[in-house]
Amino acid sequence: MVNSHHTLIKQAQKILKETKYLAALTGAGISTRSGIPDFRSPESGLWDHVDPMEVATITAFKQNPKAFFDWIKPLARKIMSAQPNPAHLALANMEKYGPLKGIITQNIDVLHTKAGSQTIYEVHGHMRDATCMHCLETSRSTENLHRYLSNGDVPRCFQCNGILKPNIILFGEILPMMVLNKAKRLTQSCDAMIVAGSSLEVAPAGDLPLLAKYAGAKLIIVNYEETHLDYLADVVIHADVAEVLPQLASVFMSEPAD
Ligand code: ZN
Repeated sequence: MVNSHHTLIKQAQKILKETKYLAALTGAGISTRSGIPDFRSPESGLWDHVDPMEVATITAFKQNPKAFFDWIKPLARKIMSAQPNPAHLALANMEKYGPLKGIITQNIDVLHTKAGSQTIYEVHGHMRDATCMHCLETSRSTENLHRYLSNGDVPRCFQCNGILKPNIILFGEILPMMVLNKAKRLTQSCDAMIVAGSSLEVAPAGDLPLLAKYAGAKLIIVNYEETHLDYLADVVIHADVAEVLPQLASVFMSEPAD
């Protein structure tokens, strides 16, 4: 499969060799190989029996946290055990050995962290921490989630026994402004951006490649499906990110792979 993309990969490698300040934007497609379903996709099974507006809004969470946790349970279980795939590792290598200055991700699955990436802007939040809805104390959610997954108790704050909400951005919540500002700064500073596994359908992250392009950066899109910004990209590769990204990272590691 990758052979048919040989020329496109060469073109992307050429851009990367000339890049001094690289940014990456990742979405659900980078984690499907790690067994994490696309949160928003009907095929994920997450929405089969529920209306997202009835469990995954901030209002619904406050009214019925148990329904939210019951809904997110299968996803939380997958996230807890998921491991980074070659695409996550390739991006970690691009930071360690190459000019990658940061990853902007729409994913909540913390797989970039597990892969060893250092600078990550999680614009939709993440499952690493949880915040008490009562005293606003933040704590690591891992332990609480483990307990929830084993006995079904809704995670509660150690300090005040308030309900803990995982630090993922629910529908109706404002995106984390600081993170978003840093993501925008990275976007405007880069001379090339790789989009990996994002359909770019969800704003505002989905609009960042446009911002990068306006600021003069080259744009490489690697995604199975077409995106609405394909027309703008310097190279578009419709293929599996886990196959393509390691070939792009190889530019910074040794002799580029053929
Ligand atoms: Zn509390």
